[in-house]
Order: sequence, then structure tokens, then C-alpha cells
Amino acid sequence: MRVAPFDPAPVLAALTAMLPAARPLALHEPRFAGREWDYVKECLDTGWVSSAGAYVDRFERLLAERCGVARAVAVVNGTAGLHAALLLAGVEPGDEVLVPALTFVATANAVVHAGAVPHFVDSDPVTLGLDPKRLEDHLTETAAPGPGGPINRATGRHIRAVVPVHVFGHPVAMDALNAVAARWHLTVIEDATEALGSLYHGRPAGALARLAVLSFNGNKIITTGGGGAILTDDPALADAAKHLTSTAKRPHPWAFEHDEVGYNYRLPNLNAALGCAQLEQLDTFLAAKRRLAALYHERLAGLPGIEPVIEPPGCTGNYWLNAVKVPDAAARDALLAACHGAGLLARPAWALMSGLPMYAACPSAELPVAEELAARLVCLPSGAGLLEGDREQA
Ligand SMILES: *Cc1c(COP(=O)(O)O)cnc(C)c1O
Repeated sequence: MRVAPFDPAPVLAALTAMLPAARPLALHEPRFAGREWDYVKECLDTGWVSSAGAYVDRFERLLAERCGVARAVAVVNGTAGLHAALLLAGVEPGDEVLVPALTFVATANAVVHAGAVPHFVDSDPVTLGLDPKRLEDHLTETAAPGPGGPINRATGRHIRAVVPVHVFGHPVAMDALNAVAARWHLTVIEDATEALGSLYHGRPAGALARLAVLSFNGNKIITTGGGGAILTDDPALADAAKHLTSTAKRPHPWAFEHDEVGYNYRLPNLNAALGCAQLEQLDTFLAAKRRLAALYHERLAGLPGIEPVIEPPGCTGNYWLNAVKVPDAAARDALLAACHGAGLLARPAWALMSGLPMYAACPSAELPVAEELAARLVCLPSGAGLLEGDREQA
């Protein structure tokens, strides 16, 4: 049977009709509509701009509250947070860590920063994140169970941890994943960098594993310019996270007592000030993003070859990025070219980690779903200010 080639024109017409006229329209612009100026000015006025200060403490408290965990430790970016979280989870040089092949490169990079080897696994077509069932099948076929985690039978290495990523803010099937991890003695670290504000069966992303990591890069749902946080319910682990990410200095009024090789991964007070102002607006951003997602759905769902990505059953996504599935890679490229030609800076999903030169030789499961998703996904402009008319005022 011959299928008519995908035509991007009706999609572009629908996008042009619903989006503001300003061009170019970035994939995700930050929005500063709260007390950002006041808080940042206070840092400058008082001199508290650097690696300690009241805004850091306040940002950590507000984040922990918001995510329903005991503690949050602010760090300089999400990649650094993932690196520290892997070390805190007991990942050692020469271990393997399971990560989805479909993720931003930082997830895999952090594993290598910890001296370990990423081991790629497949995705779920509904959540876009790691598929617990396929993960367990892969472990059963290729690994030997052990009390310290599975051993990869092909490489002989310990598989120590698994890092699910809530892709575009849609929560991974965490109950099933946590059950697989418990059966195989794997530590779970949530890469919740895209998922602040998302709920999984009523529970916040970031509170669904022993350790979780957020990012506040300029393109994320709230931003501190650059920044991140490690979340945990375990106060001892939080203390260890603070210590490791603040040069491993023991508290003392004047002495330099460092008791291990620590990292300078602290979030400056200046950035935390921005973070406090942004966090105060999170509910407004979430509501705006839901309105945008609903409008995309209403305008695009009926068009031939277009399948909007929606939050998984039982979940409330933050719709950090709105995405659609098109029939194949040729359709994806045609839509991306049409959008860019019109100043709409749409993006594909990431290239699979297993295809990047530095990761091509890493262990990997079969990846049929991730390959299909990478070929078919297109992400559309998704900033919280898109429908609010504030671009025209700017
Ligand atoms: C943004 C992001 C990170 C890294 O965060 P940075 O703050 O940019 O270092 C890690 N993983 C995923 C999936 C991300 O989207």
C-alpha cells in the first residue's frame, strides 16, 4: 500500500494561527514576571552574591517543601547534581549504570564523570522514559543477580544503579521501576531535571526514589541561570550531599578542615535568589503550560500524521516540552524544516546516546522503541510565557 507522504503545511498553518507573531520563537524561553529584580538586587546590596547566603537556605527549604522530600541541596547545575548523586549512591569506578538511550547527554556524561560506564536501555512508547518491563527482561537475559547489584555477564562489571529520566516532564512508571530495582538490588536515582511540578499518582517527581536531581538551566521550567538540586528523604544522605558538593569542609569558624576530595558544586546565592523568585511562580507557569498543551492538542490532534504526546495515565505532567509524534524520520525532518523556515525553533528528540561516538561501544539493550521515538518526535515551542502576551510587551 502506498501512503501519501507527510505534508507539514497544515501543521505549520495551525501553529502559525495559535502562536504569537514574534519571530524567532525559541523552544523554551524563560519568564521573569515575579520578584526576580528585588531578590537579586538584595544580593548585590548586601554583598551576599557567592557560595553561601540566606537565599541558598531558603531555596533549598522551598524546593524540599514543594517536592515533598525532607531535604534539598542546591548545586551549580543538574549535571553536577547527577554526578554527586551517583557518588552518594555508591557508584564506583568500573561499575555500570543503567540509563535510557533516549535522554539528554548529561545523564550519560554524569555516569562517566563518576568513573562508571553507561549501559543503555529502551524506552516506553507512552511515558517516553525507561521501560521497567523491558529493563527487567534485559537484566534476566544478560545479567546475574547478586546482593551488590547484578553482574553484567558479558563485561563482568557490577551494575550498581539505574537512572530513570522523566522525559519532557512525563513521569516514568516509577512503581514498576522501583519494584524491578528492589528485586535486582539496584539504587534508583531520578533524573527529574525536566520534571519539576509533575505528579506521579499524586506524588511529586523528585520524591519517587532514594535520590533525585533537578535542573534550573535557562531552558527548564524554572531557572536560576544555571543550577540544580539533589533531593532526598534521608537526612544523613542530604548532609553527605552538602558536604561532598561544598569542598568537603567540616564546619569550623576559621580552620580549613577538608576530610575528603570534595567538589565545588555550590549554587551561588545570586542564583538562588533568582530561584526563590522563580519558584514563587511555579504554579502560574504550570497552569500556563497546561493551557498551551491543551491548545496544541485541540489544534493539532486531528491533523493527518500528527499524534500529540500527552501525560501518561495517572500522571499530571508539567508539559515542560510539548511534543508530537509524526509518522517517520522523513516527516520529522520535513516538519522541522518547515518550522525553522517560519522562525519556529522546533527541535527533534535527542540523538540516542548509543549512537554518539564516545558511547557507541558501551553496553546496550536492544532499543526498538527508543529508535522509533527518536525518529518520530518533534518538540514545539513551550515556554510558559508563550500565550501570555508578555513577549510583545518586552
Ligand atoms: C537539563 C538536563 C540535565 C542537566 O542539567 P544541566 O543543569 O543543564 O546540567 C540532565 N538530564 C536531562 C534529561 C536534562 O534535560
